[in-house]
Amino acid sequence: MNYDPENIFAKILSGAVPCEKVYENDEILAFKDIHPKAKVHVLVVPKTSSASFQDFSKLDPITVGNFFKFVNFVATEVLNLNDNFRLVVNNGKKSGQEVFHFHVHIISN
Ligand code: AMP
Repeated sequence: MNYDPENIFAKILSGAVPCEKVYENDEILAFKDIHPKAKVHVLVVPKTSSASFQDFSKLDPITVGNFFKFVNFVATEVLNLNDNFRLVVNNGKKSGQEVFHFHVHIISN
């Protein structure tokens, strides 16, 4: 899938658009969803130009593996959700993906 560098998460990553950041490192940015569906609703976004989960999964295994370790780090160490959270990935327009920069939703009540 083509990656549009003007998508909203690319603009958040570049600092052109603000966000409510909860954690950042060299590989990911985590920030609060602007329309939360639960008490905790955080998006974790890799700093790679991947439009979808399928595109992201084609990257090298270390990048892909690190990303999911960071998702767990944000859920457990930053948000203190213990083992009480849901992860959601929408892949493709028909599945509800609205922003075409791969991201994982961390959702918890
Ligand atoms: P998805 O449907 O998986 O692509 O999810 C996109 C999510 O991004 C939705 O839950 C939106 O509420 C959220 N979103 C869109 N724009 C922003 C923004 N500027 N800051 C934070 N979250 C956003």
